[in-house]
Amino acid sequence: MIFFATVALVFRRVCTLAKRTSSSFLSALSLIWRGTKAAALWVMLLVSAAPLWADPPPITALISDVTVIDGLGEAPLLHRYVLLQEGRIASIDTKQPVVGADVVVIDGRGFYLLPGFWDMHAHTFADTTAMELYLAAGVTGLRDMGCPENCTTKLGEVRQAYLSGSGVYPRLVFSGPMIDGDSPYDDYASHRQINLQTLPDALAVLQKLQVDFIKVRDFLSRDEYMALVGAGAAMQLQLAGHVPISLSVNEAVRSGLSTVEHEGSLFGGLLLACSSDESKLRDELRDMMRKATASGDVKTLYAEALNAGFVDRLLNSYDPNKADALVQAFVDSDAALVPTLVMLEPMLRSADPEFNGRRKVEDEEFIDAPDTLISGWRETAGKEVLGQPFSDLDRAAMARQYNQVVKLIGKMHRAGVPILAGTDASFPDGTPWVWPGYSLHDELELLVSAGLAPSEAIASATGAAAAQMGLSDTGVIAAGNRADLILLGRNPLEDIRNTRAIKRVWVNGQPVDRDALLDRVKRRAEDHENYWE
Ligand SMILES: [Zn+2]
Repeated sequence: MIFFATVALVFRRVCTLAKRTSSSFLSALSLIWRGTKAAALWVMLLVSAAPLWADPPPITALISDVTVIDGLGEAPLLHRYVLLQEGRIASIDTKQPVVGADVVVIDGRGFYLLPGFWDMHAHTFADTTAMELYLAAGVTGLRDMGCPENCTTKLGEVRQAYLSGSGVYPRLVFSGPMIDGDSPYDDYASHRQINLQTLPDALAVLQKLQVDFIKVRDFLSRDEYMALVGAGAAMQLQLAGHVPISLSVNEAVRSGLSTVEHEGSLFGGLLLACSSDESKLRDELRDMMRKATASGDVKTLYAEALNAGFVDRLLNSYDPNKADALVQAFVDSDAALVPTLVMLEPMLRSADPEFNGRRKVEDEEFIDAPDTLISGWRETAGKEVLGQPFSDLDRAAMARQYNQVVKLIGKMHRAGVPILAGTDASFPDGTPWVWPGYSLHDELELLVSAGLAPSEAIASATGAAAAQMGLSDTGVIAAGNRADLILLGRNPLEDIRNTRAIKRVWVNGQPVDRDALLDRVKRRAEDHENYWE
């Protein structure tokens, strides 16, 4: 589930919905569960019947005279003829190939062909609507970063359906339940809390669920984390996630954390690694987290860790030499960063009237989100962070933290660290101002503002993402690869916002009926109260 397990809106909405009101945080969890159960039902329908989304026979199509943006960050290839056959990209020619009369020819003049995007940090809860939103937005690959066991089973069915090429499904890779140590998130359904004794059981569950990687979280002890590193190597599974507070980021990536998410951890892990006061600040943070685990009080933890006094000490102790060492650790170990700026920005820049989350209300990307969700985001924007009223001083410090993180991302990028596009979108409850599908386009925009060229931002959601996951048949427009593609009507290399100008989407070489998908999503959104049922 989302970064902090839950955020302001969830608190608010859940207070009105959940029967269990002992604490708003726990109530949020019960809502998440309800969503998950609903998701399970939807996916059962999806998998047991004929494909819900579309069931055309695999077509042979030729996209003629199109500009290809291959996903590797290279210069565009002009006037290309791309043949789609049996779900794959059969050929890419500079001249029109001779094709039979049965081949559908799509005039690509003035259009831009890209690989389908990956959201490298998604929480779909296996919900059909979430997947429909993604596909309509050209996001054909999802790295699901944590869901409970029954939800993971459903994800496995969708993964298989995609791989068999039998219908229009997103391509999935997933972690299943996140693995954490003893934490205050006791009831968090997507979590599995382990210790050294219970670790083998957890690994057996992951194995049974056939997960693609292991998601780790902040509360793991050093021994638990290192045991997971060993297990991951034995099971040939990458580790990805938050850097546990018990380790430095440098140590975590050097020991094999393949992707680092968000700003490194719940509370500024990357900046901790850049601090001349790292060990002292880390000890303090660890104490705050221990206290929260003992009391179950996460609100106090957030209040302390995002307090201006603590944040300013973190920022003011920034040491360029330590930043260089951090970057070097990533470079040496081929680790990537998935910063999910689109989630961090609304949270850390809540005091900034310019913060773009608030204007997004009017934007089409939220048109399919239930009004109740949007009104909750609007209500808490600028007033609360993580469900709590922080002072102006605190929120100004958080905004500085955001700016510092963005600068660091630019530095990492210039040094060759893969920066990958992920959103932390969570469905159906939503991460404030983040919504499945179009928020990935927002993330691309934010990555460009952090210093990536548009072609590099596109690669962050395509070729670079595939490379980091070790997938060789996706993310790049190349002969033999799966034909998961987007056709754009405007040039995204001129303006990254043009990735939204989607004309067509293909999955496994089959056209996605975007209008039908969005229609269904809209009808469901109109029935707000049942959105979660
Ligand atoms: Zn997440």
